[in-house]
Amino acid sequence: MASFNALVMKRLGVYCSGGDAPGMNAAIRAVVRTAIVNKLEVVGFVGGYSGIHDNKHLSLDLRSVANIIQRGGSILKAGRSPEFMQAEGRKKAADNIKANGIDALVCIGGDGSFTGAHTLWNEHKIPVVGVPGTIDNDILGSDDTIGFDTAVNTALDAIDRIRDTAASHDRLFIVEVMGRDSGFIAIAAGVAGGAEDIFIPEHPFQLEKTIEIIKRGMARGKTSSILVTAEGQKPGRAYDLAEAIRKHAGLQAKVCILGHIQRGGSPTANDRILASRMGMTAVQLLLNGSCDIMVGSQGESLVMIGFADALKSKKQVNQPLIELAQVLSN
Ligand code: ADP
Repeated sequence: MASFNALVMKRLGVYCSGGDAPGMNAAIRAVVRTAIVNKLEVVGFVGGYSGIHDNKHLSLDLRSVANIIQRGGSILKAGRSPEFMQAEGRKKAADNIKANGIDALVCIGGDGSFTGAHTLWNEHKIPVVGVPGTIDNDILGSDDTIGFDTAVNTALDAIDRIRDTAASHDRLFIVEVMGRDSGFIAIAAGVAGGAEDIFIPEHPFQLEKTIEIIKRGMARGKTSSILVTAEGQKPGRAYDLAEAIRKHAGLQAKVCILGHIQRGGSPTANDRILASRMGMTAVQLLLNGSCDIMVGSQGESLVMIGFADALKSKKQVNQPLIELAQVLSN
């Protein structure tokens, strides 16, 4: 957490970084509108840190953000920049920011993007406020991140459809959702979709227990089951699970990997509102001279959290949710 002289602030930059998330456009819209109301000019960098590094930007006015609140993805594109990982690349990026007369930035992204923003302040005293935009919901200090609610609802819609076909054909299905290091999507979509068992990276996988749940269900006449798994270290983990279940219990499981469809699509109302609130708050924090922080949602409120604190570790799925999933799968 740090402060800077916001009285001289005239131009604001905004960018989306890392993986895209539904609701990023709603956040850009809120940033631009709040900035313009406060007599600031706004510049959008295209493609995250690579756009800053390569000096690819465009002016944003009220017309630029018309008709985007309902669109998934990002009008500024999101992206990754290996150049920005190096001190030399960050120096070039900082020079571009200064040469464009940009006094402060709003970064919409995940923890990698915030690490970059934190470094930009430490090395070049460029003020940044972060807005957590990632479908993974793994940012410490924020109950929710922009895009998570939409991704969960997309996964849930798929699970509901698969349940129809699973029930019609007496089948066992394994649905794989996104979340390499984080089980938030899996546990939320699994609980909401009535999954028989849920596999998340935060919790040890117990094959015997899963097989027992499926067999118990079959014994009482249940003809179909759905298991939900987070993707794990690589997409395709569901195939390994299906193979393990076949080997240990002789049961055939169908696999459905949802993949990138979870990133796209029109953001839910919750994500649009969260993004709008966070985008507005980010600009207001900069106007107050606060920087090197991110906006977080905690209960009904938005709070500010220093990047250094937010980046200490990844947020983990909480124990009560894991317990809920376990009790309901029995
Ligand atoms: P996310 O923000 O969704 O976690 P990434 O981890 O891919 O996404 O990070 C997005 C970008 O942020 C990277 O391509 C890089 O440009 C920048 N970044 C990530 N980690 C660092 C770091 N340790 N130092 C500087 N920049 C970083």
